[in-house]
Formats: sequence, structure tokens, C-alpha cells
Amino acid sequence: MGTGLLKKGQARRGPLDGATPDSAFPRRDGVLRCGDESLDALAKEYGTPLYVYNGDRILERFHAVRDGFAPLDLLIAYSVKANPNLAVLRLLGEAGAGADIVSGGELYRIRRAGIDPGRVVFAGVGKTRDEMRYALEQGIMAFHVESAQELAALGEVARGAGFIAPVAVRVNPDVHSPTHEFTRTGHASAKFGVSPDEAVDLYAVIVEHPGLRAVGVDVHIGSQIREPRPFLAALDVVLEVADRARRDCGVDLRYVDLGGGFGIADGEAGALDIGTLAEGVAARLEGRSLALILEPGRFLVGDAGALLTRVLYVKRSGGKTFVITDAGMTELIRPSHYGGVHAISLVHDGDRGTVERVDIVGPVCEQGDFLARDRRLPVPPRGALICVRQAGAYGFTMASNYNSRPRPAEVLVHGGRATLARRREEYADLIRGEHDD
Ligand SMILES: *Cc1c(COP(=O)(O)O)cnc(C)c1O
Repeated sequence: MGTGLLKKGQARRGPLDGATPDSAFPRRDGVLRCGDESLDALAKEYGTPLYVYNGDRILERFHAVRDGFAPLDLLIAYSVKANPNLAVLRLLGEAGAGADIVSGGELYRIRRAGIDPGRVVFAGVGKTRDEMRYALEQGIMAFHVESAQELAALGEVARGAGFIAPVAVRVNPDVHSPTHEFTRTGHASAKFGVSPDEAVDLYAVIVEHPGLRAVGVDVHIGSQIREPRPFLAALDVVLEVADRARRDCGVDLRYVDLGGGFGIADGEAGALDIGTLAEGVAARLEGRSLALILEPGRFLVGDAGALLTRVLYVKRSGGKTFVITDAGMTELIRPSHYGGVHAISLVHDGDRGTVERVDIVGPVCEQGDFLARDRRLPVPPRGALICVRQAGAYGFTMASNYNSRPRPAEVLVHGGRATLARRREEYADLIRGEHDD
């Protein structure tokens, strides 16, 4: 029902603009736009490859989550790793978002963006003692602890520095999430979280430890999940952990954190129905005095971002047609790393050639360097501008300098204005930090 989920084989692949309803980059007068700005004008002003973010769309998505879960006591902790650009963090912070971080570097960013550390939760299986100390000094809301050894280290660091560390145990609920192998984190053999039984044991440790305080329970089952069911199954598991922790250890938890991973529509299938999820969550939290934390990343920024890239050459060889663009896996690694299927459109209607099955590939010297494979697309001419959609999450943040390629610029369009959110790297940036003598 209402999940918009397409079955395998029904995937909406290929047809130009056919992939998703997309309010972030609509077509008007034959040209794609972001707000009132034509993408063509932005590419001319800032060059390509270029990331463009629609700030209005980001806020629209933030409000959709907030309103969708409205009657609940909710903190939306934006998952910084999806897109950590300061301009994006400021926008969301001013709208009332907290943050879900996974490193000291992300804590540094959210501080620079003015987000209150009291609204920040810190997950990750490999927090270092330095990161723990930094987060304690900054006064974050909670550490989401993922192992017994990490909990012991946190207790030591907190005691040594004169803090009491607020803790939520991240539970591995052993649910199956129907998503790519690399974005699945809630099955028993994943490296994340601890089993429900071990979680209860850890709460018993926390209540006895003078440097630790139990404040919540946490779960995050993966990314780009399009069905409510696995989230609700995970919630059932952690609520039972919370009940057992109260019964067996006498801890009263303030919140349950359901993580992120809410799926968006892309070139492959539709979005998670957030309303159905909210209903299921509200029913399960009824009568409990638990606040709710959600950690959406992609859902807030994914379809609000696009990667603009120009066609360098069209090459026919070995029975194939390659559209070679000035962006590749160095700018957007999702297609090759996660099998991500991004909707792809020509910015100008007038650039449509005859429809063929094409691979869109980058200039990087790797056979695994592609933006799309085996797509039916109107073959564009040299110089045409291509818009790769759903690139606002896990796009620039995973970009690299491989092949000594400077990373692209990022532009935020918000309130009728385009501003440079990050300048394009120059060759000199490539050797910054290296010894040059
Ligand atoms: C990555 C991550 C998220 C966000 O995932 P999205 O798919 O971008 O919503 C949330 N919580 C944790 C712990 C994460 O690691």
C-alpha cells in the first residue's frame, strides 16, 4: 500500500526525466531550473562539474518529517555525513534540526555551523578517546555506544576528565532491510550495535558506573529503505530492550532513537511513505514517556541536490555508446559503489538526440567509473549539460581527489538567491599538506 515501492523488474529506468516526480529541479521553457535559476546559467557562472542544492526543497523535506510525526516529542537529528557542507548545516540548524554525527570532524563542523551540541548524538563503532573527550567537552546530548569495550573506554575518559557521559546503547535488532548490501546495518552479522541481550547487560554496567548515565536507546538499520516494516520491527526490538532495562536495571530512559535510512525516490523505485511510518511509530510509543529522535540524512537532502556535468565526447566502440562526461566516480561514487540508480536528465530539451542505450562514464582511469550504465537516453551532443538527480546525499561528501582531480564547487540556491557554498578546488589544493621542496 502507499509505499510507492516498485517491484524488481518494474524499475523505472531510463526514460529521460521519467524517473521521479522532482520538485527540486523542474523544467520550465525547455530548461531545468533550481528555483528561478536556470541550471544552464549556474553551470556557466560556476563551471562544471557542479553540485547544486535547492535549499527550499531541503526545508520542505525537514518540515515534512516534522509535521509527519507532529504529535510526538521529536528531535530531528540530521545525519551530517549525508551532506556536511556548512551552508546545509546552517540551513537545517536554523530550522531547528539537531545532528547525528559519526566523528570528531563532524562535531567540529556542526559547531562551526552554530548547531547546539545539546542536540547532537554521536554514533559509530570506532570512536577514539580523543573524539570522546572532545564530545564531552562540547556537551553533546548522547554517545550511541556500539560495544562493551567502547563503553568501558568512554567511562574511563569521562571519569578522567570529570564528566558524566550520557549514553544510549545502539541495538542491533537483527532485522532484514531490503537495500544494498553496503547500506544494510541492522542484521546480526553487521558490525553495528549490540544484541538486545548484550544491550541489557550494558545498561547494567552503566547504572553502576559513576562516569556514565543511561539516557536512551538507539537503532539504525540501514539506508535507502523504502518500506516502513523493517523500521517498525526494529522499534519493537528496542522498546523491549528499554522495558527490560527498566525492569532489570532500574534505568528510566528518556528517548528512543530510530535512526535514519528513510528511502527517497530515485531512478530505480519510489520513496518511503513517511506517513505510514509515523502512524506505526506513534501507535508503539503511545502511553510511554519516551521522546523520539530520528536521524534522516538522505531524506532531507538527497533529491534536493543535483550534479551538473558536461558531455565531453560521445564515443561508439565495441557495440556500445559511451557518453563521456566531465564528472565521474570522483565526483559521485554512488553508482559504482552502491549500485545507485540516479535519474538523469538533459538540462536543455533541445539537446535531445535519438534514443539509444548508453553508458554515461567519467574521465577517471577505472573501468568501474560510471554514472549510469545501460540507460535508454536521447544521445546528447558534445557540450550538452546533464543533470544527475538525487545527488544531494552521499555525493560531494564522498568525492575524492583520485586521478588528481580537483573537487567540484557547491552552490546553494535558497530564497531566490544562489550562493557559492564551496569553491572549486584548484591544482594547488591537490598538494596542500605535502612537502614540496
Ligand atoms: C548514515 C546514518 C544515518 C543516515 O542515513 P540516511 O540513509 O542518510 O538517512 C543515520 N544514523 C546513523 C547512525 C548513520 O550512520
